[in-house]
Amino acid sequence: MKRIVVCCVLVLVYCKSFSWGFYAHRQINNYAVFLLPPEMMVLYKPNISFITEHAVDPDKRRYAIADEGPRHYIDIDHYGKYPYDSLPRKWEAAVQKFSEDSLTRYGIVPWWIQTMLQRLTNAFKAQDQLKILKYSAEIGHYLADAHVPLHASSNHNGQYTDQHGIHGFWESRIPELLAEKEWDFFIGKASYIANPLQFTWKRVLESAAAADSVLKFEKNLSNSFPRDQKFSFENRNGVIVRQYSNAYTKAYNKMLNNMVERRMRLSIYAVASFWYTAWVNAGQPDLRNLSGKNFSVAELIDFNKLNASWKDQQFKGKICE
Ligand SMILES: [Zn+2]
Repeated sequence: MKRIVVCCVLVLVYCKSFSWGFYAHRQINNYAVFLLPPEMMVLYKPNISFITEHAVDPDKRRYAIADEGPRHYIDIDHYGKYPYDSLPRKWEAAVQKFSEDSLTRYGIVPWWIQTMLQRLTNAFKAQDQLKILKYSAEIGHYLADAHVPLHASSNHNGQYTDQHGIHGFWESRIPELLAEKEWDFFIGKASYIANPLQFTWKRVLESAAAADSVLKFEKNLSNSFPRDQKFSFENRNGVIVRQYSNAYTKAYNKMLNNMVERRMRLSIYAVASFWYTAWVNAGQPDLRNLSGKNFSVAELIDFNKLNASWKDQQFKGKICE
């Protein structure tokens, strides 16, 4: 019985994060702020806690809205073999070929990022501070998700290969153990992205190409690692949680040749660059004189609702089964 309880906790901890764990999403948005030019920093730096905290809103929304899930991934292997040429890169052409329903079933992250970029650009044009911050935080989430290999694979939690938990292992456990102590997040500057759709697809295809290694290496490691040393137990706020042990986590990270760090660094660069691109495309508005500096009561209620449905944990849509 005890064993069953422990297993459930493990599944809860590593299955409920869906995408870069909350920790990594927050870090990615936070670091991205420091890649911005001074004209943007003037808005982003004083609001860095909002940008950081709200990096995880899209994952929380998965508990409130059924349509939210597909915006975070694409099961690209559904479309044949790499580089999946049968799938048109442009949304309209893809809809024409496969229908919107079918695209939605297998995930729409590359296209949803373009929708968010348009929203952010419009917010800059309208010089609406609150929308700029909200969409900046959220596009950061979707861009980061597109960098995660298992977000571009139908075997997203190793469910077809008896590797349940690998999703959270890669994107939560590894960064939580190593990011702060060992990784380098000095990245330089944001760039203007002339073709955001093409840029996004490049990242998605890299993710798709890496998914095989992510799965295969863990399988090999699991087969060669002493069974009794694969997991360890930790007391988290009074709950005993079974997790991948430090030694196992470090061994996996080594096999991946720091892939998680590289994808996290690329995520940070992409997030800052999309913010910058939206600002440039909006005509580089002066961010010192914006309107809408306080959230309305209705907006605050919306944030609270989002948190409440997340805490309630009634998931809507696909979960890593
Ligand atoms: Zn996500």
